[in-house]
Amino acid sequence: MTADPLSQALDPWGFESPFGASASGERTTAAGQPAVVGAPWGEAPWVEAPWAEAAWTEAPWTGEAESAGGVAFPSGAVLARASGATGRDEEHWDPNGAGLPLLDTRPALRTTRLSPNFTVGELASSGGRASDVARISPELVRVLQAIRDRAGKAVRITSGYRSWARNKALYQGYGKKPTLSRHCSGQAADITVPGLSGAQIAKLAIDAAGPELAIGIGTTFAHVDVRGAWALWSYGGVAASTVRAVRAYRDARRRGAPPAPVPPGPVPPGPVPPPVPRVPGQTAGGRLEVARVPLLAAHRGAGPDLVLRWNGMQNPEAIDVVVHLHGYSPPAASMRLPRDKEPISGLDFSDPAGREPGGRTRPTLALLPGGSRRRARSGPTGSRSRR
Ligand SMILES: [Zn+2]
Repeated sequence: MTADPLSQALDPWGFESPFGASASGERTTAAGQPAVVGAPWGEAPWVEAPWAEAAWTEAPWTGEAESAGGVAFPSGAVLARASGATGRDEEHWDPNGAGLPLLDTRPALRTTRLSPNFTVGELASSGGRASDVARISPELVRVLQAIRDRAGKAVRITSGYRSWARNKALYQGYGKKPTLSRHCSGQAADITVPGLSGAQIAKLAIDAAGPELAIGIGTTFAHVDVRGAWALWSYGGVAASTVRAVRAYRDARRRGAPPAPVPPGPVPPGPVPPPVPRVPGQTAGGRLEVARVPLLAAHRGAGPDLVLRWNGMQNPEAIDVVVHLHGYSPPAASMRLPRDKEPISGLDFSDPAGREPGGRTRPTLALLPGGSRRRARSGPTGSRSRR
């Protein structure tokens, strides 16, 4: 994936695109309530809850405890109530009547932690913009923390509280009637987890927070909300088979199947090799004869096996390597590289035509190996040459 994964699913505001694909977009009923796409057991009594102990009853949380006029969160932080226009169709209308109060989320409070890994600013923001007053469900914070704990890595909230006014503006931008978004009620968050698809996040959320979560599956994100009933839907780009797989997973978990292992995230980069130490200063040009090179032991000639030459260079980023492969040599077994080949090999880096008296200036290492002793037929007369 080369593009920012969010850009595939989110509009420029950072919202998921609600109308990315009408065939699988978030469905709403005539009353505007998100429809439960696949919850055949929605009416069934909850009898098997293998994770209930861990996920739901371990925390003593019983709702949004009102504390001194404010709302207490899992971290112990208390946010004070705030006033705002909450009437029908006004800026902070709660279209679901969930009953959560508007809370003070002014900038000075944004870094306050509501749980070990989530701040006021994250929950009070949608599409990267924070609101000075917001509805925030303590239960949602607890669910998000449970997801974070199970994931074992960062969970990013791309949309938390979204005012009714912003929600309307968002949908008007699409030329659509706004949905009665749970984000406006303070009960929803859109989340991403590095390296995980929306469906993987959905399954992880079911394992972390239980089967009564409402989940919207995007390609690279998941919407989770705590409306209090199971619901499942998808956004654009998610195959129907993916939704069925998540539903089947939830079904299996309800019947007692063990949770799937947490998918690994991106492989962290390996240890960075130590930098190659640089020798400071200038390297003058030079020449070296190597008498014996095992690789060239079978080659013809009286030695040395290899002649190296290089020109002057200073801490080069790269060097050119030139290998002179020479052919027939009349002296055969008595051939000596420095005498018979080097003068005509170009190892002096000079321009044979004399046009560049300074010679080659790019950092260069030249190799002149002794020729092979193998005989090869060449030419129509079958004359022999030694290489
Ligand atoms: Zn959402």
